[in-house]
Amino acid sequence: MQPFTYARPASLTEAFTLAQQPGAALLAGGTTMVDLMRGDLTAPSSIVDIGHLNELAAFDTSGPVLRFGALARMADVAEDATLLSAYPALAESLQLAASQQLRNAATVGGNMLQRTRCVYFRDGVSACNKRVPGSGCSALDGITRDMALFATSEKCIATYPGDWGNALAAFDTSVEVSSASGTRTIPFAELHVAYGDDPAVETTLRRGEIITAILVQATPAGRCSTYLKVRDRQSYAYAVVSATVALEMQGDVVQSARVSLGGVATKPWRSHAAEAALTGVTLNEQTALAAGHAGFADARPLAENGFKIELGARAVARAALVASKRI
Ligand SMILES: Cc1cc2nc3c(=O)[nH]c(=O)nc-3n(C[C@H](O)[C@H](O)[C@H](O)COP(=O)(O)OP(=O)(O)OC[C@H]3O[C@@H](n4cnc5c(N)ncnc54)[C@H](O)[C@@H]3O)c2cc1C
Ligand code: SF4
Repeated sequence: MQPFTYARPASLTEAFTLAQQPGAALLAGGTTMVDLMRGDLTAPSSIVDIGHLNELAAFDTSGPVLRFGALARMADVAEDATLLSAYPALAESLQLAASQQLRNAATVGGNMLQRTRCVYFRDGVSACNKRVPGSGCSALDGITRDMALFATSEKCIATYPGDWGNALAAFDTSVEVSSASGTRTIPFAELHVAYGDDPAVETTLRRGEIITAILVQATPAGRCSTYLKVRDRQSYAYAVVSATVALEMQGDVVQSARVSLGGVATKPWRSHAAEAALTGVTLNEQTALAAGHAGFADARPLAENGFKIELGARAVARAALVASKRI
């Protein structure tokens, strides 16, 4: 681990000042940041520990806009009774992430910003454009089973790993960010960027900006929703694929649909194609599976990850059928 300074600001205002120093990085729950520093995968010159700033830890799921303070603990949000009944997909995405111990410490803001689990990024030695810009991408000729099908580039094909972010993508979500220069709101779809020419750039956050809250517009489709996660073992594993589906139903007919996919793209991935295929149809196993396939029509499989197309399509179909019963 590289040497660094550590600061524990007494207020958010002090945090803004410290965060804009060159080489500064934020620490919230620390459950992924410390791993990255131990592995020399990131080497900030100063750490600004914001984890104790309780004004960013509150959340409210009862109003027309759900508001999650960025430092709300994953476990607390996952167990919120209103969220569980009115937006089960969001609660499930947290319940199925990591372990109880990690969820007790980790924050919803930190979860959104976690970095890829690409083995070549994490091993600290392989060529990796994300870790060492310009060094190449070992995954392109390597093991591609866990890699992405959407929004890939010749520079990077790694998947975005966060369950919470993948579920948020199905809803009208935005992120409130503040710094010493003021506050702005970023549509969630614009927070993460596809890994283009410089895969080291993962978000549109500017230097010194701190995420203060995650905002979700309330929708009746929240009630009729689920987060379905397919993984290699039943717990403590990242998604091979995941599907979030939220529906508004009239009888068996889908009035409107929201669909996002996880484990298959370089950023949280909303599938407008699957949504269009579900909207207006009478939902049954055939129409649900057709919508799943529509969601993967533009997928670009690599040598070993083509199986995710059928797996993902079936995940969408199953999620749609489960969600439709939650009226
Ligand atoms: C063994 C293991 C298994 C896991 N399995 C899963 C899983 O199945 N699914 C899943 O989704 N996750 C999984 N995780 C990841 C885990 O959920 C994350 O480590 C955690 O959510 C990160 O939150 P944190 O508060 O600890 O973030 P930190 O580690 O403190 O920070 C993470 C990143 O976010 C930045 N950051 C934090 N807060 C802010 C803020 N308010 N504004 C701007 N930047 C900020 C930090 O600078 C850092 O870059 C796993 C982790 C481990 C170690
Ligand atoms: S896929 Fe991306 S993260 Fe993985 S080795 Fe290639 S550049 Fe690095």
